[in-house]
Amino acid sequence: MSKVEDYFNVEGKVIAITGGAGVLCSEMARSLGEAGGKIAVVDLSERAMALLSNELTEKGVEHITIKTNVLEKNDLIRAKDEILETFGKIDILINGAGGNKPEATTSKDKSFFELPEDAVQWVFNLNFLGTFLASQVFGEYFAEKGYGEIINISSMNAFRPLTKIPAYSAAKAAVSNFTQWLAVHMNHNYSKKIRVNAIAPGFLLTNQNRFLLTNQDGSLTQRGNQILDHTPMGRFGEPKDLISTVMWLISDSSEFVNGVVVPIDGGFAAYSGV
Ligand code: NAD
Repeated sequence: MSKVEDYFNVEGKVIAITGGAGVLCSEMARSLGEAGGKIAVVDLSERAMALLSNELTEKGVEHITIKTNVLEKNDLIRAKDEILETFGKIDILINGAGGNKPEATTSKDKSFFELPEDAVQWVFNLNFLGTFLASQVFGEYFAEKGYGEIINISSMNAFRPLTKIPAYSAAKAAVSNFTQWLAVHMNHNYSKKIRVNAIAPGFLLTNQNRFLLTNQDGSLTQRGNQILDHTPMGRFGEPKDLISTVMWLISDSSEFVNGVVVPIDGGFAAYSGV
């Protein structure tokens, strides 16, 4: 255990972030990079990575970007090898690639009975399989090395499903379940120094949910208002709200914390609605 003043130190840690160019994970790339982490942004979107890379360069963050599809195991293996070639090691994997889409969401015009199989599969693959495959590839390296940390991104709807989004809710429940499974599996079979935890962000207004929470004119939908009514702290989250918990989970300060899913939700999960 390090000294208390070093608890949250991520200096020199090599952090691979899938979906690292997205809204939430680019904030992790910036903040963890500014705190001294070496960042590997592993994302499908070259355009988003180029924009983020400019920003990281301006901030003096040591980083690389690697175009990767988390649903292609060979892509992930190539990404892992490139990170090792560049930085010589990997300490942390953040499984950030994920999301929902309108086609897998019930609405006035689309009942549950009509949700297309391919849209449901798409959501399940991106959130669950993408986390699973990246954990296989990077987890095998952690197992060989004897230490490493994986952070998954679950969601409020993993605890209790939200209306309208059955595929996303089920996929995030699978991510939470897998977090516990892998934490135990790694300790039992490979090393007591591998940890697997997850964060469950509450409601942040981002690309994946803007169509559900806001109207064209920017005002809140009924669902948007309902969420705020059920969030004791009375606001949507900001990407910055996630950073201190992620730093806690990836640093020595949480070295006996394993297999947990931490809500960062302004109290949403605690509130029964009454
Ligand atoms: P985002 O859409 O801004 O970012 C997702 C990133 O993943 C994008 O950069 C995209 O290019 C990348 N990506 C998509 N498919 C990929 C693939 N096959 N391979 C590699 N990269 C791929 O999403 P976000 O809102 O920042 O969400 C990040 C994570 O947080 C997701 O897992 C999401 O489900 C979860 N989450 C979001 C919220 C929220 O309110 N936004 C709440 C809870 C959980």
